[in-house]
Amino acid sequence: MGLLHLGTPLTWDETKQYADHVREHGIIQFLHTWDRVKDRCGDELLWGDEVEYMVITLDNETKNAKLSLRQTEVLQKLRNAKGDLTDDDTPASMTAPTFHPEYGRYMQESTPGSPYTGSIQDLLSVEINMHYRRTLARKHLKANEIPFTFTSFPRLGTPGVFTEPHFSPDNAKSSHSLFLPDEITNPHPRFPTITANIRSRRGSKIAINVPIFIDERTPRPFVDPTIPWHRSIYPEDPDAKNGAALNDHIYMDAAGFGMGCCCLQLTFQSCNVDEARLMYDALVPVAPIMLALTAASPVWRGYLADVDCRWNVIAGSVDDRTPEERSLKPSKDNVVVPKSRYDSVDLYISNDWINKPEYNDERVPYNEANFKHLRDHGIDELLAKHISHLFIRDPLVIFSEAIHQDDTASTDHFETIQSSNWQTLRFKPPPPNSEIGWRIEFRSMEVQMTDFENAAFAVFIVLLSRAILAFNLNFYIPISKVDANMGRAQMRDAARSGKFHFRKSVLPPGHTSPIISTPSSCASCSPVEWSQGATAKEEKLRNCFPSIPRPPHVEDGPIEDEYEEMTVEEIFVGKAGSKFPGLLGVVEAYIDTLDVSVGDRLQINKYLEFIRRRATGMFFLSFHAWSLQTPATWIRDFVRSHPSYKFDSAVNQEVNYDLMVAVDEIERGVRRAPELLPEDYVPSNGRHSRTT
Ligand code: ADP
Ligand code: MG
Ligand code: MG
Ligand code: MG
Ligand code: MG
Ligand code: MG
Repeated sequence: MGLLHLGTPLTWDETKQYADHVREHGIIQFLHTWDRVKDRCGDELLWGDEVEYMVITLDNETKNAKLSLRQTEVLQKLRNAKGDLTDDDTPASMTAPTFHPEYGRYMQESTPGSPYTGSIQDLLSVEINMHYRRTLARKHLKANEIPFTFTSFPRLGTPGVFTEPHFSPDNAKSSHSLFLPDEITNPHPRFPTITANIRSRRGSKIAINVPIFIDERTPRPFVDPTIPWHRSIYPEDPDAKNGAALNDHIYMDAAGFGMGCCCLQLTFQSCNVDEARLMYDALVPVAPIMLALTAASPVWRGYLADVDCRWNVIAGSVDDRTPEERSLKPSKDNVVVPKSRYDSVDLYISNDWINKPEYNDERVPYNEANFKHLRDHGIDELLAKHISHLFIRDPLVIFSEAIHQDDTASTDHFETIQSSNWQTLRFKPPPPNSEIGWRIEFRSMEVQMTDFENAAFAVFIVLLSRAILAFNLNFYIPISKVDANMGRAQMRDAARSGKFHFRKSVLPPGHTSPIISTPSSCASCSPVEWSQGATAKEEKLRNCFPSIPRPPHVEDGPIEDEYEEMTVEEIFVGKAGSKFPGLLGVVEAYIDTLDVSVGDRLQINKYLEFIRRRATGMFFLSFHAWSLQTPATWIRDFVRSHPSYKFDSAVNQEVNYDLMVAVDEIERGVRRAPELLPEDYVPSNGRHSRTT
């Protein structure tokens, strides 16, 4: 979530009138930023993670796990909390982390106190940092409250008591939900306003239908007995029985179902804007694959679903498109908008020669006035399209105090649009009045139950991003295929049984072996490093690798020959008979270019080995299954093997309670889960570990 203003939010009718104002000034603000930083170069790799938590109260008497709605109080305590901890708990070199509010009143987000650098030491401190943040969060909660890194709460919106304290959905004034009380939402005016304005702009209540997992005794057709079909408090109450709620589906009707999910995000700084654009593009096809591999949300509103991931639920949660934009009603001009404002990236943005125009094969509606404004200022076509595509959206919240701004000093209006486009990647321009450079954010992953897993994925993605730069890797496939992969990634068991479009050769066209880029001659790279050339081992992860020029004679075959369908396993470890060494192969080749001590390498290998096992199909090593499950598969199996589960898809209060107890015990290392984690897992493991 972006910056939280204090102020008075406008109603939807007022907001609409300022939409063009916000867009026009948002563009002016972007152009001021552009003029200031377009030639900025030489920023080192700085990077950081964002981990989201849901705080859950374990009520041992009633055997109920409930969402604790104390965010405001807890965050106040956590502000500058480091001073409260004993030296034992505080890693020597660590700055106090930041805790941020989130959409749900049971949620919080934490980020490291300062970004990590490219040093190997920082890479290996990620897990400790995450563990430290979790320890801090735990310390400021009540004895029976626990911060879970859990993607979707299984019993959000079920009948009965699922929050502490309990509230009735009958007073859901901003969402009009049949299931979620308004009290589930952060009380800051930004959040109820977003909720209400999405509903107003859309012209109806949110309607999400997730296919239910049909188990042995699931009634067919499944007509959900927990929907209050005949409530009549809000005008939309009859929607459910009038077709909004589909049979054989889990129906959800409020933004909170998606915005109340937790995820894991990573932000990387680039040397300059061109490198940021190349990195953005390279990670676009990786995003759905990482979604499949981190899948962690198979239960929704008390039922097992036939999907494993949160993505489409959130997309539906904030889908503020009008019926015309959703092409449900005919419209005079073509106003159809293909996707929700929360969805996969629509456009590659690099001007590098490896980005062929044919890869951008989707219709990308854009705001023509904003596009012209950007082009007239000299912004290249792709970037102008990217920005003006984001700017087809209306602002969701405007505060009356912030309508008129100094466009040379503020980027508030720009951010109002930018940060309410929630895509798999975000291209982040440098903010005003700060040292921060061009960054990209990787946003598709589901949060994992342990810091070990979250650190493994963070470390893997940062290493992959360096491999992409160092070897000039090319991951481009048509963006329509990336979209297809997004759908496939969410299907049940996609990490094992799914197939994904992926590039057959990741070397740049015209090359048959990796080209190792030596640092360029840009301002940040000292001549010493330059003269060492490609053979000298690097001491840290870095930015600033020159991209290679197009070779003179490249035969361009048909695009369709550039990619094929692969399993997640093939994408990670390579495919028999193909030249692609897999994402793990390129990461390992990159690590070989680093000057890493044996001990550090072992620690990195722990993370990579974990990812290899997660990505690999079942085989047995001395009677132990070697492959590891996704959290989604593990949760599904837990539910289905619980004595009180009736094989009717319903996840009752007792199953949910036992599940959350088990997850907490696994996280703390007091319960083994060899299907999910390495046998030697302990919290914040490795040679840096401290006993807690
Ligand atoms: P948002 O919610 O907009 O995505 P956050 O402030 O929650 O952003 O998180 C930003 C992340 O970026 C944090 O992990 C932070 O450590 C990291 N970060 C901060 N400064 C930089 C920088 N200069 N370059 C890269 N990452 C940074
Ligand atoms: Mg967040
Ligand atoms: Mg954040
Ligand atoms: Mg933020
Ligand atoms: Mg973020
Ligand atoms: Mg390069």
